[in-house]
Amino acid sequence: MNPSSNPPVSQTGQSPFPGFFVRVNTMMDRLIPEELLHDPEVARRATLISRFGTLGSLFGFFYAAFYLAIGHFWGVAIVVLCSIGVALTPWVMRRTKSVEWPGHFFALTLTLGFTGLCLVEGGAHGHAIAWLAAVPLCALLLIGIKPAKGWLVIAFCATGVVVGFDLAGYDLPTTYAAKWSSLVTAAGYLGLVVFMLILGWNFEHGRAQAAEKMQTALKELAASNERLIQLNHEKNEFLGIVAHDLKNPITMILSTAELLQKVEMAETSRKRTGTIITVVKRMHSLVSNLLDVNAIEEGRFISNPVPCDIGELVEECAGNYQIAAQAKQITIRFGAAKGLFARVDHMATAQILDNLISNALKFSPPNTTVHVHAVPEKNYILATVRDEGPGISPEDQGKMFQKYGRLSARPTGNESSNGLGLAIVKRLAEAMSGTIQCHSAPGQGATFALRLPVCEAPRPEPAVMPVIRADLRQRFDKFLADKTKN
Ligand code: ADP
Repeated sequence: MNPSSNPPVSQTGQSPFPGFFVRVNTMMDRLIPEELLHDPEVARRATLISRFGTLGSLFGFFYAAFYLAIGHFWGVAIVVLCSIGVALTPWVMRRTKSVEWPGHFFALTLTLGFTGLCLVEGGAHGHAIAWLAAVPLCALLLIGIKPAKGWLVIAFCATGVVVGFDLAGYDLPTTYAAKWSSLVTAAGYLGLVVFMLILGWNFEHGRAQAAEKMQTALKELAASNERLIQLNHEKNEFLGIVAHDLKNPITMILSTAELLQKVEMAETSRKRTGTIITVVKRMHSLVSNLLDVNAIEEGRFISNPVPCDIGELVEECAGNYQIAAQAKQITIRFGAAKGLFARVDHMATAQILDNLISNALKFSPPNTTVHVHAVPEKNYILATVRDEGPGISPEDQGKMFQKYGRLSARPTGNESSNGLGLAIVKRLAEAMSGTIQCHSAPGQGATFALRLPVCEAPRPEPAVMPVIRADLRQRFDKFLADKTKN
């Protein structure tokens, strides 16, 4: 806080005290080392230490002056030593750059000082014994619950020793003149009240400041979250527009290049056209994936769940990859029982299976086998795609469903890889209340397990239509016959 920001009294007409307190607090806060200001909780405790140290020692010197006035010299010696200890606490904090050491040092100084006062002010009959209660409280506020428990035991023992003398019938001395007894007692208890009030006030002040900072930080966080959401939305919109506008020209280039390949041409031109087709196909796949991710992230993918025979779909999708597999000398084995119905979006499920099977082929070396199967599970239909490829390390498995997650395994046949396929797979599976998991270890192939929510097979159409149709036919025939007669 900047002290100069407090307006002078004459300008505002307000009390000078708030500005004065701010200045005093700022001076005390200067004792906190820079290193302790980064963590808000440590900074809060450090502030308490600097304030307890400064105010506590001032408080002590007032007492010392009072004791000096009444000629209580043992009291003066103990309170001055104790006040010096308390005043040194912030310096201990600066030297050790921690809050623990000064916290313990503060509690130790108070314990020794109050026990010492008990010994020269009549033990259990004096006011100093009550001050020992402040030791665990200070430890609690400055260094936390666990150390406070330790200081509770120590303060309890110190009190026990003082009370023990009394119980044993040994009267501890009162080293000041008896005529001051009532005054010392009154000053002691009133001082204790004020001391506790200062502790509480400082603690509450620190807490309120910390809560205010937290509120401000939360507000800033919420605002920057809002900004990030907006930026992400704009980025998605931009990507969507670019991808969408690129898709049509790419499709046109592809179909033209495919047409060109059918025309008679020199071998070199045929090769070049082949290269164009390969590259354009990659671009097409990237643009389609970008559009899919965008649609899902912007909430534009709307699942249309209907009962779908996963066994049939698995066979259909795997069958579509037979030729691609043969070209890479990979065998596809697939099989599934019929009637494994799941409530899913047909297109999205086909897209997931396509992605998993094409990945299995993409990352497997020749002369291996890819297995595609579907089996029923309790509440799911489980479709698995297993390959005998390089496998995926546990570290890579943690990143594989993230966008643009191209990992250690690279395509074995120069296929395109943009790291979007599995991100789409995961989002589509989850949008249909399904799950996708990968079980793999390096060198042992990979198994992708897709679970989709099981459902009843759709009922066959009731035989009402043929009856109605037969009925209509009869009526139509009769109508025709009547017309012919007329
Ligand atoms: P892409 O296949 O376009 O790279 P994916 O999101 O489908 O994107 O896959 C991300 C990464 O996960 C791949 O680049 C690859 O490293 C790894 N991966 C996916 N499937 C397999 C698999 N069957 N075997 C080994 N690695 C795989």
